[in-house]
Amino acid sequence: MAMEIQAPKGTKDMLPQDAYKWQYIESVFRDIAKTYGIREVRTPMFEHTDLFLRGVGDTTDIVQKEMYTFNDKGDRSITLKPEGTASVVRAFIENRLFNEAQPTKLYYITPAFRYENVQKGRLRQFHQCGLEVFGSKEPSMDAEVIAVAMDTLKKLGLKSLSLNINNLGCPNCRPKYNEALKKFLAENHDGLCDLCKTRFEKNPMRILDCKEKKCHEITKNAPIILDYMCEECDTHFTKVKEYLDMLEISYEIDPGIVRGLDYYTKTIFEILTSDFTVCGGGRYDKLIEELGGPDMPAVGFAIGIERLIMTLEKEGIEIPNENLFDLYIGARGEEGSKCAFKLASSLRTLGVKCETNHMGRSIKAEMKFANKLGAAFTTILGEDELTSKKVNLKRMSDGEIFEASLDNIEVIAKIVR
Ligand code: ATP
Ligand code: MG
Repeated sequence: MAMEIQAPKGTKDMLPQDAYKWQYIESVFRDIAKTYGIREVRTPMFEHTDLFLRGVGDTTDIVQKEMYTFNDKGDRSITLKPEGTASVVRAFIENRLFNEAQPTKLYYITPAFRYENVQKGRLRQFHQCGLEVFGSKEPSMDAEVIAVAMDTLKKLGLKSLSLNINNLGCPNCRPKYNEALKKFLAENHDGLCDLCKTRFEKNPMRILDCKEKKCHEITKNAPIILDYMCEECDTHFTKVKEYLDMLEISYEIDPGIVRGLDYYTKTIFEILTSDFTVCGGGRYDKLIEELGGPDMPAVGFAIGIERLIMTLEKEGIEIPNENLFDLYIGARGEEGSKCAFKLASSLRTLGVKCETNHMGRSIKAEMKFANKLGAAFTTILGEDELTSKKVNLKRMSDGEIFEASLDNIEVIAKIVR
């Protein structure tokens, strides 16, 4: 046998027995998005590298360590998208969606690629469902975006969710905070990791998000941004909290969260389960302008689908799954097989999920197979059935038999569905 090729590290096949979980999560998310008037957007899997250098930020972990970047045959630097926001903003600007009535509410379901240390809940290709709302600076929109994420996670059956929020300030107040933070970090400079030493000048707040233990120890006592907010940010934050209270969404304020992307301003948030951070998001009022668009505010989030599925499974939450087949049609003899083949085809036009024998198996083996597939009903077409034009439909759950005429497939369809 030829040598077997394995999937690249950090990637996973989505197998048929798991597909329903993905479809269910996606459909719950889509249905909830609809109730908010949020429409779908799909952007390419790869972009010019510059988009992420500018959009995600060149001092972030994503840009410094995690991007899948390569030159294509035309010698352009291309990057597989490591997250969804930058591409959606690019599409918003490029397609002039800012000229339409605002706000623009968009959702996406996409793979994302990051060259990470592979571990539980950390893959190199993973998937996100996310949302971006452009054009509203109102705190009610921050709360609404958080509500979409919470609605989705609750609808899926998750109970122990914690929402942590923070405010990162704006270009008005953040410089003052950065100064205070730098002053504090300067006193501890030697203890920082090498990467954080480079972050110290360019973007000291990044150091608060460093995963190195020694940096974490240092930043535990760092000044917090909430003490440096300007009046506008302070009022905004107060109102977001009021709106969340109105929706009875409980939250904790966590001044330690800064999130792994540079573009955030004002509100940021994370939603945690017992094991993982499953959702991260926030406001990014300067990104559209920074990427060449108009000065327009924005807020969004992304949920990690793999982490979500792992959490649902761990918490024993059942994901609805339908039978693979409503009816298995077994057959005796060549005439029976032909009739079964034809009947399956007719029933499918009525939406019945059915299957017949394509394996040349005996009746006994066929019924065993039907059982294994979890067919809700079975029937057998042989000489008797062809002559009498009648079939017996056997309900597998209790063995009850329903008789139906072969000339009336509507009735058959009605019984087995
Ligand atoms: P972390 O701090 O865990 O690295 P992050 O801040 O990099 O997360 P985001 O960029 O905010 O994560 O992505 C949003 C969500 O996507 C995360 O909350 C998580 O559920 C999921 N996610 C991020 N990176 C990965 C990964 N490598 N594998 C699987 N899921 C991921
Ligand atoms: Mg990360």
